[in-house]
Amino acid sequence: MLRLTQVHLPLDHADSAITDAILARLQIGQDRLIDYTIFRRGYDARKRSAITLVYTLDVNVKDEAALLLKFKGVPDIVVAPDTTYQFVTQAPAALVDAARRPVVIGTGPCGIFAGLILAQMGFRPIILERGKAVRERTKDTWDLWRKRELHPESNVQFGEGGAGTFSDGKLHSQIKDPKHYGRKVLTEFVKAYAPPEILYVSKPHIGTFRLVKMLQEMRATIESLGGEFRFQSKVVDLDIDKEQVRGVVLAGGETIATDHVVLAVGHSARDTFQMLYERGVYLEAKPFSIGFRAEHPQSLIDRARFGNFAGHPLLGAADYKLVHHAKNGRSVYSFCMCPGGTVVAATSEPGRVVTNGMSQYSRNERNANSGIVVGITPDDYPGHPLAGIAFQRELESRAYVLGGSNYDAPGQLVGDFIAGTASTEFGSVQPSYKPGVRLGDLGPSLPEYAIEAIREALPAFDRQIKGYAMRDAVLTGVETRTSSPVRIKRQDNFQSMNTKGLFPAGEGAGYAGGILSAAVDGIKVAEAVALSMTGSTDAH
Ligand code: FAD
Repeated sequence: MLRLTQVHLPLDHADSAITDAILARLQIGQDRLIDYTIFRRGYDARKRSAITLVYTLDVNVKDEAALLLKFKGVPDIVVAPDTTYQFVTQAPAALVDAARRPVVIGTGPCGIFAGLILAQMGFRPIILERGKAVRERTKDTWDLWRKRELHPESNVQFGEGGAGTFSDGKLHSQIKDPKHYGRKVLTEFVKAYAPPEILYVSKPHIGTFRLVKMLQEMRATIESLGGEFRFQSKVVDLDIDKEQVRGVVLAGGETIATDHVVLAVGHSARDTFQMLYERGVYLEAKPFSIGFRAEHPQSLIDRARFGNFAGHPLLGAADYKLVHHAKNGRSVYSFCMCPGGTVVAATSEPGRVVTNGMSQYSRNERNANSGIVVGITPDDYPGHPLAGIAFQRELESRAYVLGGSNYDAPGQLVGDFIAGTASTEFGSVQPSYKPGVRLGDLGPSLPEYAIEAIREALPAFDRQIKGYAMRDAVLTGVETRTSSPVRIKRQDNFQSMNTKGLFPAGEGAGYAGGILSAAVDGIKVAEAVALSMTGSTDAH
């Protein structure tokens, strides 16, 4: 099969235009074309007056070898790579019945894919989750948004599906992926009823409601392969003997014996990080980012990005990506932008306020929202591997108080924030954060260097997206859970630096940032576990 890349066509092209483009590119007649599939469809909106669709097409032709010879060295006509996933091993019969099954901690995208791949290879993993199954979890999460009641073990961060369940479900990632693991992730999502277009649109997303259904499907698949899920099963300790994991201890006191533990606990498992530190597992502080959520009318973003094509069904609600290098040396950037979505209360700890964003598949809410965050490093919270957590907690507590100590988020209009005056009244943009937003001055919510950098960045962003610094746009705070504040470092064999059999994985360990990259890391770690269990690498 041949792969043709960079096939540009007008936004409203006829179906036959794709065939015509293939014939023209390959300089062949219709009789030599067998069929084609769309591998990827993106768009090029750099010129708003002439937005084009950009296709990558996989094409079957008669006499492929001759065409390959003819176009040798032409970079946009190549052999299509085989993206089929290949398992690294299968569990030998003796291991299938073994008492010591691999344990996966966490059911976020990383834990689910580690569990799925292990189950597909026949290793019958036990998958432990501190929170509840997704339906019950959804009710608990809504309690905070609707009734100001936080469930510390069942919320936006904790429970089946992990942190990405109440999200925009964006599935693109910039990770290097030579083995096409991302394709395996998307294929499994489609099997679990994700929209098939995620396989070919350049910026796929799923939205919250579908994610809930997909999680139930994936759980059923893993169980049918011999895997086992245990909810409300928080791991509170590790049994480590001579630097080798021997088991995990649950909150109720039960110990599950195992030599292989995938630690996919996400970036908010602060008590688990503390336990790992106390047990001597090697971890270190790492950079993350802090800031606010910004909300603008989605129509403003659509117009700025797509001009007269705003609202075109193939383009959908527009997203954006912004970066500004401030004079004080800090970088400010947009983070986890959610077109047509809502800002969500994302704390997992009482007495703290954290913002993030989510959307439905349709992305048809009135506002666009995005984190506007400032990069910080361990130099900003020096001295202890867990100091980043203390720093996050301090900011989240401050936000809680500024919001009125009832889980409302503190907010300020963009115009007032730039001018340094407190806000008292909403204008044309109504914030979406529930349970509510308390207007005032966001100045005291973050360190001065962050406020200064964001204040400088907003007018700079306005030069890229006209209207971005509009007076009535709303900022809510604080955005602190942008990535893990720690890295649980691992060796080339994916095991902890100093604890054999412990496989730190996903976002919490500092090896992923987002749904797709966390899922891909889960696959890699599952492979490492399987190879270790079958004796192909040095587990013991
Ligand atoms: P997590 O998803 O955090 O999963 C960790 C799991 O481990 C949790 O379920 C937790 O309950 C469990 N756990 C923790 N400690 C223990 C313990 N001791 N015992 C048992 N279980 C434990 N990313 C995107 O790519 N696209 C998006 O659109 C997007 N939107 C987001 C919106 C929101 C509101 C949030 C919060 C995040 C969003 N993200 C998004 C980020 C994405 O969700 C994370 O990057 C991803 O979920 C990380 O996956 P993970 O499996 O490593 O960890």
